[in-house]
Amino acid sequence: MKKGRILTGDRPTGQLHLGNYVGTLANRAKLQDEYELILLVADYHSLTRKVDKEHVLETRQAVREVVLDNLAAGVDPDKTTYYVQSDVPSVCELHLLFSMLTTVPRLERVPSLKEIMDAEHIEQPSYGLLGYPVLQAADILHVRANLVPVGKDQASHIEVTREIARRFNYLYGDVFPEPEALIGDVPTLMGTDGSGKMSKSRGNAILLADDPETIRQKVMNMYTDPTRIRADIPGNPEGNPVFQYNDAFNPNRAEVEELKERYRQGKVGDVEVKKKLNAALQAFLEPIRERRNYYAARPQLVDEILAAGAAKVRPMSAETIHMAREAMGLGRGLVR
Ligand code: ATP
Ligand code: MG
Repeated sequence: MKKGRILTGDRPTGQLHLGNYVGTLANRAKLQDEYELILLVADYHSLTRKVDKEHVLETRQAVREVVLDNLAAGVDPDKTTYYVQSDVPSVCELHLLFSMLTTVPRLERVPSLKEIMDAEHIEQPSYGLLGYPVLQAADILHVRANLVPVGKDQASHIEVTREIARRFNYLYGDVFPEPEALIGDVPTLMGTDGSGKMSKSRGNAILLADDPETIRQKVMNMYTDPTRIRADIPGNPEGNPVFQYNDAFNPNRAEVEELKERYRQGKVGDVEVKKKLNAALQAFLEPIRERRNYYAARPQLVDEILAAGAAKVRPMSAETIHMAREAMGLGRGLVR
């Protein structure tokens, strides 16, 4: 008996990195045993930022990359349902119905709207971008998910979904679960440049798909403690990405603690610390890369996984929308 149904997903924006791994992928690989996991690749959501044809075609390619990265990270297609958002377009009907149940000022107050507009240099949000959280509500509720994994301070991300579910149920009767945030204690990984979080758009990321030589170069060029200009000056492992990564990916705890101690005392050079990190990261990423290569060499298998996922989600979605229409008394009661 599974503990609940989880919807989680990624916007297809390219290859995923170690930050995505510690922030979401690792958690999914863990959750899939205890929960029913549905993994959405949100290609409609990519249209909320940019609409040119080139971007749409890039998104099509990025869908495959994101699926490969999840498969590589151990999100098992035998346990988890993978599907591409636009393969189940019935979600759009629910989005339309839900769009009547929230107000424009409410959506304008969603904090991530401003963040997205700043990050993507958007001056005027499209109707679609403003409605992004409404589509998210439809994504979650058309499969009747009751849990959504989020980081510690992101519980507000599903607040619009909860409001819409409540409002619908109040107006028409109980149809939708009011989903809960499944708060994970997920760490944020710093970028290799030490300037903030690892992010693909900042070019400070180590990708799951990087080859061994690229990984080595990125590690050897990493930012460390800037106050430390010589190996015999005591350094600070806190706030230092080389040590954060060692903590996250080096299973040899004794080695990491010993390195930190010598670093504090000014008894180890950056090169040695980075070499040890490189060895640990190579060992960590090798099986991930192998799994990725396995699926990348079998595009038909990936197509089958996505087709099977869509085939499973379509009837769930149709059933939910049928329930919603019946509860509302919409239409002539014929469409199913
Ligand atoms: P962009 O640069 O386009 O914002 P990104 O690399 O920051 O991309 P997102 O698409 O914003 O990645 O994030 C996808 C998911 O991965 C989110 O759930 C986010 O919390 C998680 N994530 C991204 N970067 C990190 C990180 N450095 N540490 C932990 N989790 C992360
Ligand atoms: Mg981001």
